[in-house]
Amino acid sequence: MPVKPLKKVTNPVNKKQKKMLVRIFAAAALLIALHFVPLDGMWKFVLYLVPYLVIGYDILIKAGKGIKNRQVFDENFLMAIATIGAFVIAVTDSGDYVEAIAVMLFYQIGEFFQSYAVGKSRKNISELMDIRPDYANIEENGALVRVDPDEVEVGTVIVVQPGEKVPIDGVIVEGSGSLNTSALTGESLPRDAKTGDEIISGCINMTGVLKIKTTKEFGESTVSKILDLVENASSRKSKSEDFISKFAKIYTPAVCIGAFALAILPPLIRMLAMGSSPQWSDWIYRALTFLVISCPCALVISIPLSFFAGIGGASREGVLVKGSNYLETLSKTNYVVFDKTGTLTQGVFEVNGIHHNKLEDEKLIEYAALVESASSHPISRSLQRAYGREPDRSRVTDVQEISGNGVMANVDGIPVAAGNAKLMERLGIEYIPCHHVGTIIHMAIDGQYAGHILISDVIKPTAKEAIGALKSAGVTKTVMLTGDIGSVAQAVGRELGVDEVHSELLPEDKVEIVEKLIKTKPAGGTLAFVGDGINDAPVLSRADIGIAMGAMGSDAAIEAADVVLMDDDPMKISKAIKISKKCLRIVYQNIVFAIGIKLICLALGALGIAGMWLAIFADVGVMIIAVLNAIRALFVKKL
Ligand code: ADP
Ligand code: MG
Repeated sequence: MPVKPLKKVTNPVNKKQKKMLVRIFAAAALLIALHFVPLDGMWKFVLYLVPYLVIGYDILIKAGKGIKNRQVFDENFLMAIATIGAFVIAVTDSGDYVEAIAVMLFYQIGEFFQSYAVGKSRKNISELMDIRPDYANIEENGALVRVDPDEVEVGTVIVVQPGEKVPIDGVIVEGSGSLNTSALTGESLPRDAKTGDEIISGCINMTGVLKIKTTKEFGESTVSKILDLVENASSRKSKSEDFISKFAKIYTPAVCIGAFALAILPPLIRMLAMGSSPQWSDWIYRALTFLVISCPCALVISIPLSFFAGIGGASREGVLVKGSNYLETLSKTNYVVFDKTGTLTQGVFEVNGIHHNKLEDEKLIEYAALVESASSHPISRSLQRAYGREPDRSRVTDVQEISGNGVMANVDGIPVAAGNAKLMERLGIEYIPCHHVGTIIHMAIDGQYAGHILISDVIKPTAKEAIGALKSAGVTKTVMLTGDIGSVAQAVGRELGVDEVHSELLPEDKVEIVEKLIKTKPAGGTLAFVGDGINDAPVLSRADIGIAMGAMGSDAAIEAADVVLMDDDPMKISKAIKISKKCLRIVYQNIVFAIGIKLICLALGALGIAGMWLAIFADVGVMIIAVLNAIRALFVKKL
């Protein structure tokens, strides 16, 4: 997956913005200067035209282009018509040119502020996401050489010095140190890493020199994937954003027609029905004011900005949301369904006992580690750890993994199976059930039962608190699904306070249960599934919103999920929901606020109470407040 470099915004005010600032000051200075020059007639018109064109030429050009492309009704058109109209009234009637120019000036000040705010928040977000490594160090003849991380092949040993970012995922082959993972997980505590540990790209090595053998290409490494996710997140539009673009399509023509009616009808009625003077310029002025007020820029800009800030704020906390639409779905979550292993529990099993074995304990573990050597299931990883050595994969052939059951393979040419009771039943092998609570790995070697390994997992330290926190985030039901045996599932469920527990499920059973739950959930609510993607990728995509564990989870899960928790902490689920709720609240506040003020001003404008000055102040003011409000979505630390 190739990744484009993130655009770095180095200066908070860019060239275009500088130019705009110069234009704003020039126009304002000219306007003030002209105020002190007594002028009249033609000269007055020509001289006032100068600041008007200085500040507004681009708007006029854009409006012209819009008309040419038959996309007439946008804010450029509104501003052009309103200010040209005001100019015409000034020529024929009032002689007050200042108003037309000031309206344009304030509009441009508003635009400037808006582009500054957007630029700034983008910069904030890309700074937050400043995890892109620029190089990798490779040792050549005793000297370190900097190379492009894209060129480093899998299996190369790279060197990461203190203070440097880990550029590519890998395993530490030499050295130890403490890692700062805050850019990835939002977690400020440093994490220790030593030889043999897996390490993901994007963390910063704070102490010690690490030699890392890469296990992935740069483009497939965690850091590239995250950047890709975040960069593409805003392209998935939410319903609110859709609403706004649809709204603008109807709204703008509607106000234009309204303004036209306001300019034409009352004078005609006055003239024809009442026989009084039509007061054309008065009504045209009101219509123009009406147009200025109606400009929908506050809405158009603040809503995508709110979502953008929400996604940025979430990623700062180690929660990657893949699009604004998911933020919206997440905010309505009322059922949360969990996978057990690796999600609520650590997925790090300890061997607690070996029973009824025909072979020596070590031998049985060796067979187990070998037969599992190709599996990425947490059980497999735990058995590898118990074995303590690198299994010799050349001894293993014909590996077949059966989801939710276990694995079968030939070890030294002999068929070996490791898995749960279902697997034994499937193979027609009589097994001895275990009376201890724990996950049981039954072993069969050469068609004979060879005993079982009792392993047990540890509940994540924050899991219980996480379930409790969900209730305060508005979740009404929590469900745990697992392929593990009932006794373990019940024990875990009871300890955590989960509302509903289903056990001994195959991946397809999990989908079925989730589908049933989706049917029974309250209207308007959504169902979130949280898993690590091992045996649950299908449910992740079936749920209204799929949340994956990013550190432990499989690549497939991270791809299938809509939200990724970088540090696998279940507490982050309620946090993500709260972040999304805050973001949506801000979006609704802005919609109601902007439309409300607009309607009030439109009424005042039509009645002739509000002039153009007030109109433009209201417009710029509403926009500034809406943008500031949108930026609040970035601050989610205390949620
Ligand atoms: P969970 O739903 O808790 O994540 P899984 O669906 O991954 O559990 O697995 C369910 C059960 O299937 C496990 O508890 C285990 O008994 C068995 N199993 C699955 N994969 C393996 C494997 N690679 N080795 C041994 N047993 C396995
Ligand atoms: Mg699982």
